[in-house]
Amino acid sequence: MSDAGAETTPTTAPVLRVAIAGKTYRPKGAEPVEAVRGLAFTIHEGEIVCLIGPSGAGKSTTLRILLGLDDDYTGEVSAAGGAGIAFQEPRLLPWRSVEHNVRLGLPRKDRKRDLDALFERLGLTPWRERFPNALSLGMQRRVSLARAMAAGPRLLVLDEPFVSLDDAAAAALRALVVDTVDAAGMSVLMVTHNVAEAIAVADRLLLVSRRPASLVATIPLDRPRPARDRAWAEATRARLAARFPEVIAE
Ligand code: ADP
Ligand code: MG
Repeated sequence: MSDAGAETTPTTAPVLRVAIAGKTYRPKGAEPVEAVRGLAFTIHEGEIVCLIGPSGAGKSTTLRILLGLDDDYTGEVSAAGGAGIAFQEPRLLPWRSVEHNVRLGLPRKDRKRDLDALFERLGLTPWRERFPNALSLGMQRRVSLARAMAAGPRLLVLDEPFVSLDDAAAAALRALVVDTVDAAGMSVLMVTHNVAEAIAVADRLLLVSRRPASLVATIPLDRPRPARDRAWAEATRARLAARFPEVIAE
């Protein structure tokens, strides 16, 4: 682990630059809620970046802004060369087959694209004609990930993708996501409050403060993923918790 705030110089090109100066919700008849204040970062090609911060900090708000789902903010977001960005949305249409749900991730003109390799890689081949309710929660998540990956985005954005799965299912799905995005050369921006999970998969951690979310530190994790044993992961987590108690609980 390098020093907090130290910027390594990634050798790959930027995929997305985010510089949110501010975002305030102004609900009718209620106090304004300042959700983000000064949050800037860049995601590079092939990088897996985890955004970590307290509950209610403004993380989902940040994702919605960079996905273009909310344009009521000050600042700037730019995707390199119109890089495709896909959002994993866990809700599936229960009356549509797995196949159909995944194809909803494609632009209409590409709906007939060959997705055999994607279904195979995610272990979904035997389930293509089934309906979501016939699948376990873990398998349903795979379907929603397949939908997000179907169009071959440069950047995959995940908001707590493994939440409410048991540890074994979460670990299996995590490994599957890492292998799939590595093979495809995709970048990932993932929000999680599970620090151990972030330490297992990320190339870089972005730590954000409690609301309004602002950047507290950028933590590059240089150790290759296969060499991240339990002892290293636990030592890294403990060191981060000691340095950033306001972001990471002991
Ligand atoms: P996180 O994802 O980090 O848990 P969110 O980005 O969802 O946090 O929310 C940040 C803050 O903004 C919270 O206090 C939340 O209640 C508030 N908030 C989120 N969406 C809205 C909205 N549409 N209107 C008003 N306040 C909102
Ligand atoms: Mg959230």
